[in-house]
Amino acid sequence: MDTLDPDRHTQLHHMDALPAGFLDCPVNRLDTLLEGPTLIRLEGRQQPPLFVSVLLHGNEVSGFLALQILLKQYREHREPLPRDLWIFVGNVQAARYGVRRLPGQPDYNRIWAGGDHPECRMARQLLLELADHPLFAALDIHNNSGANPIYGCVNYLDSRYLNLARRFSRLLVYFTEPHQVLGKALSQLCPAATLECGRSGLPEGVSRVVRLLSELLEAQELTDATCPDEPPEVFHTVAKVTVDWDCGVGLGYQPQRYDLCFPEDLESLNFRLLPADTRIGWCSNRAHRLRVTDNEGGDVSEHYIHYRGEEILTRRPCLLSMLTRDITVIHQDCLCYIMEPYPL
Ligand SMILES: [Zn+2]
Repeated sequence: MDTLDPDRHTQLHHMDALPAGFLDCPVNRLDTLLEGPTLIRLEGRQQPPLFVSVLLHGNEVSGFLALQILLKQYREHREPLPRDLWIFVGNVQAARYGVRRLPGQPDYNRIWAGGDHPECRMARQLLLELADHPLFAALDIHNNSGANPIYGCVNYLDSRYLNLARRFSRLLVYFTEPHQVLGKALSQLCPAATLECGRSGLPEGVSRVVRLLSELLEAQELTDATCPDEPPEVFHTVAKVTVDWDCGVGLGYQPQRYDLCFPEDLESLNFRLLPADTRIGWCSNRAHRLRVTDNEGGDVSEHYIHYRGEEILTRRPCLLSMLTRDITVIHQDCLCYIMEPYPL
């Protein structure tokens, strides 16, 4: 079957009902129900639809699990959905293997601002279809590979957008780069947020998504649906820290084996205000120092990082997010992001 039509893995597919077995399907068997990226349009009592995207990254399953739980509840109670729900299921091929993306695939959350990949054309088509139709709100659901708190992200500082994300978490991140993410494209269309549910599949993240989705399906208006109790705590992503693709990276102090090493408890530094001169790792090869890039693409390595012998130290107080022990993610995406508090 794989040789018949290789394009079907990258084309946008459409369904107007859940495929049989969807609600009980293990995430790594979804490829038996869906041929590729698929927009599933479910009818509810009110319009316009709530749009939800899951599995842009094949190893981030919380959004998909939450949809299964939520839709099963409606099915068991034999109730129609309170509102139209449009579900976009992204990288089912990567989900089959439990990886972020397969070799040769682009990152499905970097294809939403143009490009030549077949997946970029698929993304353009989906955005055109979404733009043709009013949307109530849009959510793109992700997980982190490292130990991070549960938080929401916005790409646009509008109170409706902040309120939407605030319903998921008090902790919010505002970012403009990477700009090729789905959340940013959705932000042009309607109130939109990206949900970071902590580690993939953990119950707390899944149940928060279930709660938010059912609230939004019931809600009449987004502006009414604010959380006035506690204002959000917003951090702004100002830079990204990456390693060279050919750089040896390891955990624990092993400078004789690796160009860059990071402490075993690296992830415990996430979302903590780190004073200047906090050690975040060791570098044994001057040719492979960390690269820090600001939102305009400028090299700001010296502004944030300095070196003392082998030690890699922060130069100024800062907050890091998405630090991960996953060496593949460090190479494919980044070591972490640098954030600053963003007073509203
Ligand atoms: Zn993701």
